[in-house]
Amino acid sequence: MTSVPLPPAPGTAAHLSLALANSVVTLPGGSQIDELDTPDNATAWLIAQGLAPEGTGLLSYCQQQLEGLRADLRRILGSHTEGSAPAPSALEGLNRALTAVPSAAPLHYSPGAGLERVHTHPLSRIVAHAMAQIAEDAAGLLTGPDAGRLASCAAAPCDRFLIRTHARRHWCSERCGARQRANRSYARKLEKARVD
Ligand SMILES: [Zn+2]
Repeated sequence: MTSVPLPPAPGTAAHLSLALANSVVTLPGGSQIDELDTPDNATAWLIAQGLAPEGTGLLSYCQQQLEGLRADLRRILGSHTEGSAPAPSALEGLNRALTAVPSAAPLHYSPGAGLERVHTHPLSRIVAHAMAQIAEDAAGLLTGPDAGRLASCAAAPCDRFLIRTHARRHWCSERCGARQRANRSYARKLEKARVD
């Protein structure tokens, strides 16, 4: 797997939804790195996020489901950061993931441990449960205290999402910050040349 050659964008470590949204990134030059581009890579991504146990093997159907949720999530985050209404189909997709499986941990009894709540689900539902957790994180993030600080990286063509740590910081990494400053000064030079 080719990994994204950038440190995680601010907020990604705390939010599964941002981790999924940022699992595809457009690099300067226009090429894309996609961490979910094969069933094996999608499996490795889920394991790395703690959403699937070691030894899990995704089928391509599951990989496509995860990619579909990512596309819906990116559309919702994109419209949110632009201040526009989300596409109804993207909201439907996210809500399907949110409600496809029960999210409450059932009550279990064993003579040793007594009553306890345990998340148990058959292997066939690992991806559905992972997607439900990601969708739950997204719904919480988009309606929570950090919603107003969500941004998409300002250094085109980078298209990662982040939670702004400073009011004026609109880029996902130092590298993108440097590129954005260079882009801006180039634009200023062009503007000046036009005026002169
Ligand atoms: Zn960036």
